[in-house]
Amino acid sequence: MLELPFNPPIQHINLPAFNNNSVTVYMKRDDMLHPFVSGNKWRKLFYVLDDAQQKNSTHLVSFGGAFSNHLVALACAGAMHGFKTAAFVRGEEVNNHMLNLCKLYGMHLIFVSREAYKNKQELYHEFAQQHVNTYFIDEGGKGELAAKGCTHILNDADGFTHAICAVGTGTTLAGLAQGAQTKNIITEGICVLKGAEEMDKEIAELAGFKIKVHHNFSCGGYAKTNTELLDFINHFAQHTGILLDQVYTAKMMLALSKLIAENYYPKNSKILAIHTGGLLGMLSIV
Ligand SMILES: *Cc1c(COP(=O)(O)O)cnc(C)c1O
Repeated sequence: MLELPFNPPIQHINLPAFNNNSVTVYMKRDDMLHPFVSGNKWRKLFYVLDDAQQKNSTHLVSFGGAFSNHLVALACAGAMHGFKTAAFVRGEEVNNHMLNLCKLYGMHLIFVSREAYKNKQELYHEFAQQHVNTYFIDEGGKGELAAKGCTHILNDADGFTHAICAVGTGTTLAGLAQGAQTKNIITEGICVLKGAEEMDKEIAELAGFKIKVHHNFSCGGYAKTNTELLDFINHFAQHTGILLDQVYTAKMMLALSKLIAENYYPKNSKILAIHTGGLLGMLSIV
């Protein structure tokens, strides 16, 4: 059985922007799980790698864009647990710090056109014919086993009224909410994509029940930024010593500050925000 490398702490976040209505904000520092294996990507891989081990698979194959936190996580976690890793990367061949890390951890990168990338099963089957004991891992590591890994995020979180996290595919949110069920913690997500309301149904299917997702805090869409968001990242770093990434966690915390300001949360709420990591991605904006 695999183990988490480290159980990240829960910290009180004392920021003027959160001081309203006697609400208190805490952060689960999953960004500290590992310096490169982004918080929630590690959690999502936990049972997937375990399943691969049990099936005697030796070669993990996955998919992602050129700035995929998931691929870096897979490359590193694969190396730690004795797997070979390969990834189909969307678009023409490029180089950046994230792909360099993937290569450093021994991941075999195969660049494919956007057109070819659409058919992941076909790419995988071709690969599986030429290699032995391969194991398919979907883009972003999404899926049921991935959600299961995220049910443990709240293991040591007691006494909270709310938990929130950023939503890309919603797998993390689904697992988080499942883990919150027995603890009476209300779980909500902040979607970082624009116009993705349809996703709510998929998340409900994965979790087994409906979960509230806020869709008005994407700052213009996936990986888009604006001055307000970048200013918030600076403000947050300077007042807490904690870095946020511009794609996921900064949008979540900015949304949280706005929701608190408009008294969305009842008086005396105790909110736990999940820092899902992703900090490698921020090196491209500073
Ligand atoms: C991938 C990622 C997410 C989104 O997780 P999903 O399970 O796809 O919703 C959130 N935060 C960070 C830092 C990520 O890298």
